[in-house]
Amino acid sequence: MPSISTGLPVPHPTRSYWQSVPSALDKHQSVQHLPASCDILIIGGGYAGAATAYHLLKSAASRNTRPSVVLLEARGACSGATGRNGGHLRPDLTSAPVLLSERYGPRAAAAVAQFEMDHLAAIAQFVAEEDVDCDLTEATSFDVFTTPEQAAAARERHDLLRKEPAFAGLLAAVGLYAGDDAPDRTGVRDAKAYFCSPAAHLSPYKLTMGLLSRALELGLCLKTHTPVLSILEDADDASRADEAAAAEDDEDVRVRPRCHRITTPQGAITATKIVVATNAYTAALLPEYAAAIVPCKGLACHIAAASPSSPPLPRLPTSSLCIRVQQGPLSGYTYLVQRADGSVVAGGAHHTYKQTDPASWYGTVDDAGLIEPAWRYYCDGPPGFAARALVGWVPRTRTCVDHVWTGIMGYSADSLPHVGAAPGRDGVFVLAGFHGHGMPVAYLAAKGVAEMVWEGKTYEETGLPAVYKTSQERLMPRYDDILGA
Ligand SMILES: Cc1cc2nc3c(=O)[nH]c(=O)nc-3n(C[C@H](O)[C@H](O)[C@H](O)COP(=O)(O)OP(=O)(O)OC[C@H]3O[C@@H](n4cnc5c(N)ncnc54)[C@H](O)[C@@H]3O)c2cc1C
Repeated sequence: MPSISTGLPVPHPTRSYWQSVPSALDKHQSVQHLPASCDILIIGGGYAGAATAYHLLKSAASRNTRPSVVLLEARGACSGATGRNGGHLRPDLTSAPVLLSERYGPRAAAAVAQFEMDHLAAIAQFVAEEDVDCDLTEATSFDVFTTPEQAAAARERHDLLRKEPAFAGLLAAVGLYAGDDAPDRTGVRDAKAYFCSPAAHLSPYKLTMGLLSRALELGLCLKTHTPVLSILEDADDASRADEAAAAEDDEDVRVRPRCHRITTPQGAITATKIVVATNAYTAALLPEYAAAIVPCKGLACHIAAASPSSPPLPRLPTSSLCIRVQQGPLSGYTYLVQRADGSVVAGGAHHTYKQTDPASWYGTVDDAGLIEPAWRYYCDGPPGFAARALVGWVPRTRTCVDHVWTGIMGYSADSLPHVGAAPGRDGVFVLAGFHGHGMPVAYLAAKGVAEMVWEGKTYEETGLPAVYKTSQERLMPRYDDILGA
């Protein structure tokens, strides 16, 4: 088994298409010097950290309270997986639910699928209410099967889920089609069958900058380029014990809340509550998460017209695709969104490296380098990936791959995110391990975390899916969905 590196984000990462025009918040410093203390410290300036800050401050404002909230980000704002992803906001209604049903029962699986579905409306509402421009586009997503065996397995999964009453409502939104016209219907040359289901796509970078900018308006203190090096257990335990003893004798004596000391290269800060939203990098700060959340690398690219004088790129039947690939024993997929200008963001190609070269992607935090076989899959040509895979995309349409990048995902041993109070760490909350599928999960999970942190709700009171709850048991994983799957 390849070793796992649990370091901090590396300098000079590859730059994604989404990040090609840096936001004004890229290097934002709300204050020059780190404040000495705050009520709530959020670590990580990606989608999860930004959404936590937004929900915390929005809810506090509605209650006329104003906690001091500081967000520390190791590199530029949204420089992690969020700024380098495929742009899909795509609830999984047909794949993960089967596995989750087997493990936790159909009701728990349906709760997860419904939670993901709820993100479509929740993100649309955020974008409309806060007037955020992030290219949000609703789409019917096609999950395309390219071999008869895949098509048969999809039918089997669909039949299985249809037998479960818990899925009745959700599956009403899903269609399964098979037939010789599948290539024309989907735009995928080798299509044999496909699921269609509701989804959306967007610029994850602009969405996250929108969350950060609204949170800043509500009072967030954001410091980018400030890596957290350690979270120290309460340095003040002895004096708190004295206070607790005194409080027993005198009811006017208050015990100060437990504080955490967080160190950075720019000094230390104490905080009453901490939200660790570092996804792939969680084990660098909370080593007990090393087996549960493993940093894993993925690759994506942007395919555009070769020059302004090239013919317009063909429009696909839908702007959200997942193309399943099977080459002998090697399986993988390409996820793809088509942008308004016809260009395409595509990524994946796991079948080119995942099984054959685990060291190239498993247990690494290096998003400064590419994954060569995946890079070749998308960039080699002519004819090039688009012409090979898509109907009507012939080499004469003259495409070029103008951005290729990698990103580090927090793969979770049991495929589920870790959300809630970190076991054994008073006042520390975790929101991480999105398993390469965080867009329809992290926004509302962050809302639940904000409710736990600031409103004092229990995990159960937030209404988050029960199986997302982080626990001591999940830190010693029963499943290996990363290398084992
Ligand atoms: C190539 C690729 C394609 C993907 N495609 C999709 C997709 O289409 N749809 C989908 O749903 N998901 C996709 N994902 C996954 C998705 O991007 C993630 O699930 C999601 O972005 C996780 O958000 P996050 O905020 O938890 O993590 P991140 O965006 O990684 O944010 C974590 C942040 O924490 C910072 N950090 C880490 N350690 C420290 C520290 N010690 N101190 C301070 N800051 C620290 C990092 O720099 C980073 O900015 C993809 C991921 C990749 C890499």
